Amino acid sequence: MEILIAKHAGFCFGVKHAIEIAEETASENNGKVYVYGQLVHNEKVIEDLEKKGIEFADKIDDIPQNSVTVLRAHGEPKTTYQKLQEKSIVKGKNLNDATCPLVTLVHKVAVKLKNNGYEVILFGKKNHPEAVGTSYYIKGEDTFIVESPKDAASVVEYIKKNNFKKVAVISQTTMSVPGYKELIDNINSLSEKNFEKIHLSLNRLSKNFVFVDTICNPTKQRQADTEDIAKKADVMIVIGGKNSSNSKELAAKCKTLNVETHFIQLADQLKKEWVLNKEHIGITAGASTPDITIDEVVDRIRQVRDNR
Ligand code: SF4
Repeated sequence: MEILIAKHAGFCFGVKHAIEIAEETASENNGKVYVYGQLVHNEKVIEDLEKKGIEFADKIDDIPQNSVTVLRAHGEPKTTYQKLQEKSIVKGKNLNDATCPLVTLVHKVAVKLKNNGYEVILFGKKNHPEAVGTSYYIKGEDTFIVESPKDAASVVEYIKKNNFKKVAVISQTTMSVPGYKELIDNINSLSEKNFEKIHLSLNRLSKNFVFVDTICNPTKQRQADTEDIAKKADVMIVIGGKNSSNSKELAAKCKTLNVETHFIQLADQLKKEWVLNKEHIGITAGASTPDITIDEVVDRIRQVRDNR
């Protein structure tokens, strides 16, 4: 039995940085720290941070006035900063912002496209905090978000109905790379427009129908590694939080490669029969999965192997 672990499985640098900021802030303030929203989509990480005294607030109303507060990696709309300011929670004083710089980059891309007259459409998951944050920089709640390449017709219809002359498509950082390509291909085949790729630097804004590759590099590496391993494996174990968009994308990718795939959060969910009598067992994990959970899954597979 061979265990193959994807090279870029687990925490990305944005998530690592956000957790470090939360832990450092908690230790400097005797644990009296609020984090707005789920810092990362992983139940075990959240539980461990709660043990260190960190409190997670789903609503800004739940954060007391003047509290030391940390913002998660997913990126926030400006209204979040304004509401926090009303509670005397501001950057440079008691607000530590862990927004990933790669998400901030997407916000800048959205704003520049909008300021250059483009109708900006987002490929993302409607209720995901990153998509909600990025939407603010486009058209707020009225932003057109497309979740799947299968919904390309709705994009074409939206453009036609509104007779937009300039349209740009961007993506949430954690979407599927082939999924984004498929979406653009579908839009191009359903409409007479030809959406052309432009560079992230937006130095060529002469075209009227464009798309920008805003999926982050750590996501791309993780997806590529997962695919490599899935092609060699008899079974894939994907580890990630139940609400983790990028982890679910990994599991979906493995399934499209016709390899038996199981999506779990913790090692004790792994069933013996999934790995018994398998030659090659592949493991990958989403950006919010800690190394310790990956190690525990590997240990559990070794136990199954040694006791068979
Ligand atoms: S998935 Fe990408 S954009 Fe999101 S936190 Fe990680 S590195 Fe940053």
